[in-house]
Amino acid sequence: TELGKISTLVQDARQEAIPLNEKLERFSKKLILFTGLIVLTLLVIGLLEDRDVILMIKTTIALAVAAIPEGLPIVATIALARGMLKLARHQVIVKKLAAVETLGSTNIIFTDKTGTLTENRLEVNALGLPGQTIEIEWDETNKSIRFNPSDVSRADQPNLQKLLMVAVMCNNASFSENQSTGDPLEVALLKIGEYHRTGFLEEIYNIFPRLYEHPFDSETKIMGTIHEYEGKNFAAVKGAMEEVLKASGFILKDGQIHDFTQEEKKLWLDRQADFGKKGLRALGFAYREDVDYPGNFIHDLVFIGLAGFIDPPRTEVRQSIQECHNAGIRVVMVTGDHAETAKHIAFKIGLTANENEFVMQGKDLKPGGPQNNDEKQSLLKSNIFSRVSPKQKLDLVELYQKQGWIVGMTGDGVNDAPALKKADIGIAMGQRGTQVAREAAVMVLQNDSFASIVKAVRYGRVIYDNIRTFIIYLLSCNLSEILIVALAGLFNLTLPLQPMQILFLNIVTDIFPALALGMNDGRADVMKRKPRKPDEAMITRKNWISVFTYSFFITLSVFGVFLYSHLVLKMPPQVSNNIAFFSLAFSQLLHPLNLASRKVSFLVNEITRNAYLWGAVIFCTLLIMLAYFIYPLNEVLSIEKLTSSAWGLITIGSVSHLILIQVAKRMNIIA
Ligand code: ADP
Ligand code: MG
Repeated sequence: TELGKISTLVQDARQEAIPLNEKLERFSKKLILFTGLIVLTLLVIGLLEDRDVILMIKTTIALAVAAIPEGLPIVATIALARGMLKLARHQVIVKKLAAVETLGSTNIIFTDKTGTLTENRLEVNALGLPGQTIEIEWDETNKSIRFNPSDVSRADQPNLQKLLMVAVMCNNASFSENQSTGDPLEVALLKIGEYHRTGFLEEIYNIFPRLYEHPFDSETKIMGTIHEYEGKNFAAVKGAMEEVLKASGFILKDGQIHDFTQEEKKLWLDRQADFGKKGLRALGFAYREDVDYPGNFIHDLVFIGLAGFIDPPRTEVRQSIQECHNAGIRVVMVTGDHAETAKHIAFKIGLTANENEFVMQGKDLKPGGPQNNDEKQSLLKSNIFSRVSPKQKLDLVELYQKQGWIVGMTGDGVNDAPALKKADIGIAMGQRGTQVAREAAVMVLQNDSFASIVKAVRYGRVIYDNIRTFIIYLLSCNLSEILIVALAGLFNLTLPLQPMQILFLNIVTDIFPALALGMNDGRADVMKRKPRKPDEAMITRKNWISVFTYSFFITLSVFGVFLYSHLVLKMPPQVSNNIAFFSLAFSQLLHPLNLASRKVSFLVNEITRNAYLWGAVIFCTLLIMLAYFIYPLNEVLSIEKLTSSAWGLITIGSVSHLILIQVAKRMNIIA
């Protein structure tokens, strides 16, 4: 029933529209309006000037067609989809296109510890018994273990035996030398049993056949099994220390069962904290004889002791966290584990700079949210949350989202599904994760590693940058076409661009270079700047200024040579027209070079590194050559054979904007 509820919750959530597409749509509408106004004005001016009506109407239509970047949604979708493919190659499955975009504005990542920040290759390192703590030394060559100190006291012997028994009984993993399956924590417990005495597992399975299981759950943090033994029901229990202690009424000491006092329980909690300070993950063990089941049998248990596991941090995580911090992204650990263990690992991987970082406890997260402002502030400041239940994960996501954070949240269990769904980016684990978690998430990490999240964020930013770059490219190309025709109209000069020529430029530039710009590898500083604000416009004010400046300079250089040929050299109108056409065509092909940031070299940057772009430029140059040489193409485009002086002018018209714009950039006029 519970699983059903969660599945319904997951299925009910409707597919939202891609915010990027909405932004593009809003933007396109504005653009269409703007273009419509301009071309109508041009038409009116043309008519007032008493020009050829048919030609003016054709020009207007061509301009309108050219100015509207109809390829935009397609190119944007291709860029996003290619991002998904690339991420898939890096072991990240993104299920929704929109997620790639959201990744670019994610500014906080809640990550669990076990398996994401750590290897989840657990090994039992120490056992806490009433009289002493014994360390385990593993001998892989002889497949055995040694205890340190080697002579476990007589008083602790019964606890040691019981602990190993319960560890094997209350366990769903399977262990064999070549292939173990199941929860790594449980495999580690089977391994210590078998290494301690060969054949131990077989023995336990035979003597204590299992009758029933109360499964582990991140909410209750405890697991129990019932076994048949001498006609009675024997209960074996393991779980988080707090829970096992709470359920224990007795303790096994010197082979005897004693009452378990509150003071004594406190001492055991301290021992757990000591384990945690060494980075060990602690697990408590208890048993009970002669119980009734089903029904709750996890009470009045006899406490046995605890086991400490090492779980080494993943090596690549430290650097990934550093990268997040540089990129203005907060990383917060949310774990079901104990505070000390969490703190130890957090410090070790650089998640916190302070060895004694404050750790927020799950039990301090009140249902219904923080009660007062102080509480809220400390919740919003904490970087480590320990002993957190899945329900509390959901509360955390909600709290942070209300404060305007864009939240990434990892999870693996069935119970994590609501939090994964609620987060802006739900991230499920591909190996550890349950099917339900994977369905609720928008992103699945096939290698479970935190480092993959950071890679995904990087791609998200790069793709958004690329989309923005090619929109700026398209807009500045289109605007320069409009400006050139408008200027000629204003001064009643011969048409610098014929309708067919405008359409030809539109095909050449709108498609190939724009597509190629969508494939840039990303600027060197993508992970050094703050996350994008989610409500930021697709094309910001700053971008518009760039668009206008670019088109101004392109127009200046193309219109310059056009005027010079027309008015000074008095070339025939047809030749001047051709000069304008070719200058603009090559200007647009070279224009991508203008788009790199001024902070990087003109020759070495993410744009010149893009091989697709060079491919597009060469291909388009060939197309332009075809237009010049091949009949009837040149006839259709009204292109004549040009003299070398005309080609000289075209060369000047095609490259001067590069120089002008570089100067403007280095003088800080545009970004
Ligand atoms: P996390 O994965 O963040 O460490 P979990 O919810 O998986 O959190 O585990 C919370 C706690 O529950 C652990 O610290 C451990 O004490 C206990 N625990 C984990 N796995 C098991 C299990 N298979 N059986 C019993 N207890 C477990
Ligand atoms: Mg876990």
